[in-house]
Amino acid sequence: MPAVEILRLDRLGRFDSIIADMSEGKNRLADGVAEANRGSGSSKRQMMKALILVDIQNDFLPGGALAVPDGDVIIPVVNRLQAAFSLVAATRDWHPADHGSFAANHPGKKVFEQIDLNGLPQMLWPVHCVQGTFGAEFAPALRRERIARIFPKGTDAAIDSYSGLFDNGHRKSTGLGEWLKASGIQEVFVCGLATDYCVKFTALDAAQLGFKTHFVEDASRGVNLQPDDVEKAIAEMNRAGIKAVQSADILKQQMNPPATLHTGRFLALIKEGHWEYVDRVNATGAALIFALTAEQKVLLVEQYRIPVHARTVELPAGIIGDEPGNSKESQAEAARRELLEETGYSAETMAVLTTGPACSGITSERVTLFHASGLRRTGKGGGVAHEDITVHEVPLAEIMPWLEAKAKTGVLIDPKVYAGLFLAAQGK
Ligand SMILES: [Zn+2]
Repeated sequence: MPAVEILRLDRLGRFDSIIADMSEGKNRLADGVAEANRGSGSSKRQMMKALILVDIQNDFLPGGALAVPDGDVIIPVVNRLQAAFSLVAATRDWHPADHGSFAANHPGKKVFEQIDLNGLPQMLWPVHCVQGTFGAEFAPALRRERIARIFPKGTDAAIDSYSGLFDNGHRKSTGLGEWLKASGIQEVFVCGLATDYCVKFTALDAAQLGFKTHFVEDASRGVNLQPDDVEKAIAEMNRAGIKAVQSADILKQQMNPPATLHTGRFLALIKEGHWEYVDRVNATGAALIFALTAEQKVLLVEQYRIPVHARTVELPAGIIGDEPGNSKESQAEAARRELLEETGYSAETMAVLTTGPACSGITSERVTLFHASGLRRTGKGGGVAHEDITVHEVPLAEIMPWLEAKAKTGVLIDPKVYAGLFLAAQGK
């Protein structure tokens, strides 16, 4: 029986195929193609659109060196938005330490002062997004699995780069424009931080390169050094033919938008395609703490956990931004607060060991594992109000037999305890 295999690209850029039976004639084949398009959840038009995420980095978030007010609010919006695009690119401010845009590199000059930098007007900024530092990393809560490529900018100390496409003198391309064109993109949606600087200039350059360009307003926030800077930036984009759109309008056009099945007080149950998972409500992530005292004792917490109906031994941990009025606290601050609440110890240093998904099949939550040192007992610990937490101080040298003995009594051991031990042992 003659059959033809039709290859198509699905939304993640993977090839898959359908087998059309030629013996039943043209109609069957045409149906097959139509079916394939329905299955892919994207029209041809949608295949040509890209989302550009501008500088969603720690230093531009509350608590960062050059914090954009409410910058963190865009992250859940941006995370949902990514699913509506077949191509997602991200730019990243990526400065050498001697960058000419830092006030600190111009003795006698102040932050937010305007200078001439190699023939171009330059606003002086606090030191930010220095290559290899935590501040330059993407926000831990930003989903990255759909980001196809990252474009660094501002890498030349002699010239700044607000746009994700060119430096401020339009001397050198970052490669983003060429890459979008090579990927067949005709239409781009720009969002991120900050509306009145890098988002605006990225959008203006994209429009100038001939892309049909949109600015996603609720997935962006501005610095507003002057109170109407964002307003002016949107007006300037409008004059260049760039329309402001809302993420909800983009998601509405999607065939399989993530649907919220239920929102509780702490969690929301989401269905995306065939997958169900939970998002935390009013939280930006979670902190886990591997804490080692000067006496080489590891701090572990034991408590009854309702979902597993058992007592568990875990690293001290907590969600970030869960306390009323604390929604903007930095991750390290949150980790310090949780450690003190749960164990009664305050930490001198709180260094990041790693960041990753908490449980990638079940929740969108990402956790940051910290290494706490310089510990001092200043409180009683035991958690807040309703929490009933037992704190264990276990000598590092005896921890494996201790955990084994605990497990034998029916207590569940969180595998992340071992991850903390392993990473701390690597001397990270
Ligand atoms: Zn910069």
